[in-house]
Amino acid sequence: MSCWIDTHCHLDAPEFASDVNEVRARAAQRGVSLCVIPAVEVPHFKACRALAHRFADAYALGIHPLYVARAQDDALHQLDQALAQYADDPRLVAVGEIGLDYFVPELASGPLRERQAHFFAMQLKLAQRHRLPVLLHVRRSVDQVLKALRQTPVPGGIAHAFSGSRQQADAFLDLGFKLGFGGAATFERATRLRALAAELPPNAIVMETDAPDIPPHWLYATAGQRAAGAPQGRNEPGELPRIGQALAACRGVSAHDWAAATCDNALAALPRLAALVPDLVPDTA
Ligand code: ZN
Repeated sequence: MSCWIDTHCHLDAPEFASDVNEVRARAAQRGVSLCVIPAVEVPHFKACRALAHRFADAYALGIHPLYVARAQDDALHQLDQALAQYADDPRLVAVGEIGLDYFVPELASGPLRERQAHFFAMQLKLAQRHRLPVLLHVRRSVDQVLKALRQTPVPGGIAHAFSGSRQQADAFLDLGFKLGFGGAATFERATRLRALAAELPPNAIVMETDAPDIPPHWLYATAGQRAAGAPQGRNEPGELPRIGQALAACRGVSAHDWAAATCDNALAALPRLAALVPDLVPDTA
């Protein structure tokens, strides 16, 4: 069986509160060796860390742009403290989820736009100081995120849920980043994203679910279905192998080879993962 790494999976989300053990077990059965659990705000740090330890997974600590509005004033200080406190925890692999979200109108203008930019810039500085890669949330903000990365170089990481142009993809790759692809690329109509997934070099992409969000097409409830009362489908890390198969088909490679390639890419983006999956690291002896 192939081994997959879900590089972005919110197992601490309330959607998984009642059955997270079953969800993680199902993922393991389907070949997901490792999940990276990114925190979205300070009150979740403990839970993310605890879940990563319970499941022998990995986690990241950060303040997500959508949570900046309600973050306490000392949140950045708390993040700094937590990064120092857990510096020797091998399961802490990145700073994240951090970034800029200019899709949500209230966050795209005025004081919240500035607060987002401030939190992002400061978190890049923390990543730089603690020498950790970053997990980036980039929505309608590719150029601003690239600019911030050029101002504050960090040890690479992942542009999660990537949906920019080839030129923007190349800019991230030039800065040493990998690009996260998941459920969005399973939709036939996502022609631009699928073309990009097919043409990028094999070392560019890592796989992710962003569970419970970004359901693949087979779980997606349309607006019409939701209007009729159906809930939006809940994505989970166990969907990763099927999503990976869809991407592999897009690229014309076998699922097995794609799993191996994207695992290598995940280890390159998040080097601390290597210590957590020794059997995935090729024997160099
Ligand atoms: Zn996320």
